[in-house]
Amino acid sequence: MKCTRCKAKAEVHLRAHNAGFCRPCYVEYFRRQVERSIDKQKMFGRDDHILVAVSGGKDSLALWDVLIALGYRTTGLYLGLGIGGYSDRSKAMVEAFSSARDLPLIVRTLADEGPGLAVPDVAASTRRVPCAACGAMKRHFFDAAAHEGRFDVLATGHNLDDEAARLLGNVLRWQRDHLARQRPVLEPTHPKFVRKVKPFYLLSEYETAVYTFMRGIEYVVEECPNAAGATQLVYKDALNRLEASSPGTKQAFVKEFVRSAQALFANDVARDTPGECQACGMPAFGALCSFCSLVREVETKRARRAAAELGA
Ligand code: SF4
Ligand SMILES: [Zn+2]
Ligand SMILES: [Zn+2]
Repeated sequence: MKCTRCKAKAEVHLRAHNAGFCRPCYVEYFRRQVERSIDKQKMFGRDDHILVAVSGGKDSLALWDVLIALGYRTTGLYLGLGIGGYSDRSKAMVEAFSSARDLPLIVRTLADEGPGLAVPDVAASTRRVPCAACGAMKRHFFDAAAHEGRFDVLATGHNLDDEAARLLGNVLRWQRDHLARQRPVLEPTHPKFVRKVKPFYLLSEYETAVYTFMRGIEYVVEECPNAAGATQLVYKDALNRLEASSPGTKQAFVKEFVRSAQALFANDVARDTPGECQACGMPAFGALCSFCSLVREVETKRARRAAAELGA
C-alpha cells in the first residue's frame, strides 16, 4: 500500500479511515488530528498553561509529546499511586521522558501527601475495588495540583477506545448522570476547578501506539496489576469485535454521541453547584469532598480496629 499523502511506501494502514501513511506523514496526520480536536472542541489556546496528567503509559506520554510539538505550554503531573513495582517503573519512565526533553514535571506521591494513604491501603481498609479508590484519589490530587499551580487546563490521555468503552458502559445501564458528564471538554463548575480536556478522544489506542512507536517514545508496557479485572476491558473487547467487522464503528459511536446526543443528557440532568470541603477546601457537594470522606472512612476503620486490638 502507498502513503495516501505522498505516495511513498506506507508503513501503517488505518482501516477505519481507509488510509495508509509513511512514517513522516503518519506523525503529521496524527498531530493534525489532535490539533483539529483541540480547535473544534475549543479545548485551549496558545496562551493557556496546560497541566498534562502523565502515568508513564503510551497515551499520556504521546499526548505530552504532541502538545510540545504543536507548541503548547505544558507541565507534566505524575501521581505516585503506591501500586508496588508498577508505580516505581512508571515514575522512572515519566522522569526519563521529561528530563531527556527538559520539560517541567510535578511529582506527587500519595504516600507522602496529607494523610499518607496509597491506593492499596485505601482499597483494603474500605473494601472498595482498587480502581474505585484510585479514581477518587486521582481526581482529588489532579484538581488540587491544577488549582495550586494556577493552570488553565488539565489534559489527560484518554483515547477513543477508553471513551467508547466508557460510553458503552454508561449506555448499557442508561446512567444519565454519567452520560451528562461524558464529553471531551468539561468546563469547571467551581472557581477552584480547571477545565478538563481529552485531546485524544477520537484517536484509537492503535493509532496512539503507532505514534508512540514511530516517535521512539519509551513507556511502561505493563498494565497496572489492578486493570486485569476491570469491566472496561470486557467492553473494549466487545467494541474491538464490532470494529473488526465494521471499521469506523468506535469513532462513529463516540463522535455522534458528542455531536448530537450528549447535550440532551447534559440539559436533562440538573447539576448542583458545589460548595467547599470543610477539611481541604476543594469543591464538594456535601460537608466533605469525596476524597476527604474516603480518608475519614479509612481513619475511622483504623481507629476501630486499633481499639478492638487493644481490648482483645
Ligand atoms: S487500573 Fe485501577 S488502580 Fe490501576 S491505575 Fe487504573 S484506576 Fe488506578
Ligand atoms: Zn507519506
Ligand atoms: Zn476535601
